[in-house]
Amino acid sequence: MVSLSFLSSSTKRPLWQGQLLVVLCVVVFSLLGIGTRTSEYLASFWGTNAVMLGLLLRNPHWGRDWRTWAYAYAAYALTDWLMGTAPFWAFGMAAANELGVAVGWWLFMRKPRRVRELQQSRSVLELLQACLVAALASAAVGGALSWMRFEIPWWQAYVMWAVSEFAAFILTVPVFLVAARTKVWSWRSWWPDKPMDWHYALPLVTLIASEAVAFVMKGPGTLGFSVPAMIWYAMAYGVRPTVLLNFVLSLWKMLSISIGSFTFSLADINDVTSLRLGVALLSLAPLTVACTYALRQQSLGQLRQLVDYDALTGALSRRALLERGGKLLQRMRGEGQPMVLLMIDLDYFKQVNDLYGHANGDKVLQAFVRSTQAVLRPEDVLGRMGGEEFVVILPRTALAQAQRVAQRIGDQLRQLEIVLDGSNVIGVTCSIGMAAITQWDAHNPLELHLSFADHALYQAKAAGRDCVRVYQDPGR
Ligand code: GH3
Ligand code: MG
Ligand code: MG
Repeated sequence: MVSLSFLSSSTKRPLWQGQLLVVLCVVVFSLLGIGTRTSEYLASFWGTNAVMLGLLLRNPHWGRDWRTWAYAYAAYALTDWLMGTAPFWAFGMAAANELGVAVGWWLFMRKPRRVRELQQSRSVLELLQACLVAALASAAVGGALSWMRFEIPWWQAYVMWAVSEFAAFILTVPVFLVAARTKVWSWRSWWPDKPMDWHYALPLVTLIASEAVAFVMKGPGTLGFSVPAMIWYAMAYGVRPTVLLNFVLSLWKMLSISIGSFTFSLADINDVTSLRLGVALLSLAPLTVACTYALRQQSLGQLRQLVDYDALTGALSRRALLERGGKLLQRMRGEGQPMVLLMIDLDYFKQVNDLYGHANGDKVLQAFVRSTQAVLRPEDVLGRMGGEEFVVILPRTALAQAQRVAQRIGDQLRQLEIVLDGSNVIGVTCSIGMAAITQWDAHNPLELHLSFADHALYQAKAAGRDCVRVYQDPGR
């Protein structure tokens, strides 16, 4: 795992290191761009500005220091100059490049963080706006300069510059915006954390197949061939993988179509410009889908959390307990494994409320759940049936073993000193009724077994409380 922690703002490295990195990136990406220059002409791919903007957005404190901008400007201009461009043009183009980055930076930093990190449904529109304005600003200077320098119509110079910047921004900046806060370059952070199986690969396979068909068929319509696959991977994989796939796919599309259909020359400028714009805008569709879908999943998850867990104690809610218990019962029946239910009720709990108040009663309930959870295994289930009544389900557990667990739950609670408001310390006890489920009666519904446990609880109460009773089937 290679660490590229500069993508992550969680590790705040010294400012000079950040500035050095920005300068290095400007030099390296400018050299790459200059390498794609055809004869006298502008670079056919210029990613420097987008990469610099991305870096600064990930590490805003670098951008807040004016020297970062000064060093970067020097790096832009000197690289170009040293590669043979006359000083006037080199310093002028550097100004055009950095102006675009500065406008983009200013616009993005004004947006709320959640919008900037593509976590809101309007994020994609905001991204579009910032990239567009930054590209237009950069083109205002860069277009004018290339019009003077290359003697092409001014509008063509302007449009070409603006589109090339816009495409680079819209494809590159999201990669930086959604990079994880930690472990950025671990491939796992870019991949969804759901369990993978073979049909997980289907959107990706479809994408590759669509692109293969497009490559063979050629023609302008092939630009849209991958749209279904794009929407599909956006829904299946989430925001981060979508951003990465968009990036790779767009590069490929620009490359494959230009090999197949166009050559980069003045005569084809309109084709190239419209191709870039089309590919860049195409990537917005899956991005929007991924953002909106992620937001929806997040809300559903929060809703589920609210429905499934008791807000006071964090134990499972009654509904979720019955659902999970029913499933466990079925599974244990299938596996021929025993299972035990514990019905637990706090003793004289009403008195706690009466003596110390309802708020302190709540504290006791929370303390009970914490102490009980500490006794249980991860696969055991603890739920609140209501009031001060709880159920524990112990799957794959025989009666003798479960009795020890019940004993420990009671012991833990008895030893617990619960500190209440007003520095009162109290101890509480509970009564427990148990019902064992063996393979002979596992076909009965969970509710019946719960009523057996309740019956045993009643006997524990009758026997003086603070004890455990096991349900005995009168028929056996
Ligand atoms: P027993 O030993 O027979 O179980 O007596 P008990 O007082 O524990 O049982 P009872 O059913 O008479 O009283 C239960 C009390 O639990 C009554 C109710 O006010 C209280 N209660 C129910 N839900 C909550 C809650 O969420 N918070 C608090 N603080 N009290 C609750
Ligand atoms: Mg009680
Ligand atoms: Mg009760």
